Amino acid sequence: MTAYDERLARVRDGMKAQGLATLILTPGAAMSYLTGFSEAGHERLIALIVPSTDARLFITPSLNAAQVRANPAGIGDVRVWDDAQGWESLLSEVIVDLTLDIGVVAVDDDMPARFALKIQQLMPTTPLRLASSAFAPLRAAKDTLELAALQHAADATDALIPVAFAACAAGATEMSVSLALQKALGEAGHESSFDSIVAAGQNGSSPHHHTGKTKMKTGDVVVLDFGARVEGYCGDITRVCALGKASDEARRVYDIVYRAHQAGVAAVDAGATAHDVDSAARRVIADAGYGEFFLHRTGHGIGLECHEAPNIVGGNRTPLQPGHCFSIEPGIYLPGKFGVRLENIVTVTESGSARVLNQAIPPELPIV
Ligand code: ZN
Ligand code: ZN
Repeated sequence: MTAYDERLARVRDGMKAQGLATLILTPGAAMSYLTGFSEAGHERLIALIVPSTDARLFITPSLNAAQVRANPAGIGDVRVWDDAQGWESLLSEVIVDLTLDIGVVAVDDDMPARFALKIQQLMPTTPLRLASSAFAPLRAAKDTLELAALQHAADATDALIPVAFAACAAGATEMSVSLALQKALGEAGHESSFDSIVAAGQNGSSPHHHTGKTKMKTGDVVVLDFGARVEGYCGDITRVCALGKASDEARRVYDIVYRAHQAGVAAVDAGATAHDVDSAARRVIADAGYGEFFLHRTGHGIGLECHEAPNIVGGNRTPLQPGHCFSIEPGIYLPGKFGVRLENIVTVTESGSARVLNQAIPPELPIV
């Protein structure tokens, strides 16, 4: 049994538990998870159809047929439509063939409305639901293949740290640092997990600053948040450096965030919940008097999507389980001054503790 067969079997268990008769997935994380096939969605329907029984098949436009037939899960039933015919008639045949209109059909959460509404028209009396209910708990706990891919993504992301630090210099713009990261990623043969965040000086006080034309100057604290996507899986780290020199306040804030990060990692333990990890990190920052400046949750799950379950947030009493992968990224954001966020990805081991996928974070604010 391949990893894809095992995932499919578990998803079918999830479908039965949720009372779902059929899944219709469009290109995205759920399709990648089940088949290894990914493709940017476009106006022509590519769909994976998974009844809870034993069939499964792809529908594809002829121009993608060769790529779909090469799907890593080895799904051989690939039904092809062409532009003259359109996809609706082919899907109508499949609906009759597999009696898809009997029972609840779950469609991809990210399916474009132009497909979802047409599907509803083709099956007017069939209830449609979102497919995520059959996937969420499964996708949160990564299997061996996924953990390997996440480690590769973490390694490729770590390899960019020296590139980012080297590009930070007085007179350089945020965008030039982002471009240096993009170039290094391309040369290594990887994509970006998301648009890199490079935030210099007071821009760093906005956690999701849009990288722009701001020129860096000596003494600036620079927040660098970036990630490589490898084998479909996302890397995501945040590092901070200061240009040429650092104020006492910058060093002190860095030290607090560093200790909060370490406390978050240490809180990952057998029996711990997502809430416990968030509180451990948050407590260090609050005790240091900066609680009101920690503006977001402590972390997010990561995998095929950069943000997925489990959320590391206060009130989330989900017990952490082996295979869970998530970021720990506390931060302090001082309006008009600077920001510091430190982020690594961890996974929960069989014993319940954290294994950090990234390089250790420097304990003191690096000066570049
Ligand atoms: Zn990040
Ligand atoms: Zn993150």
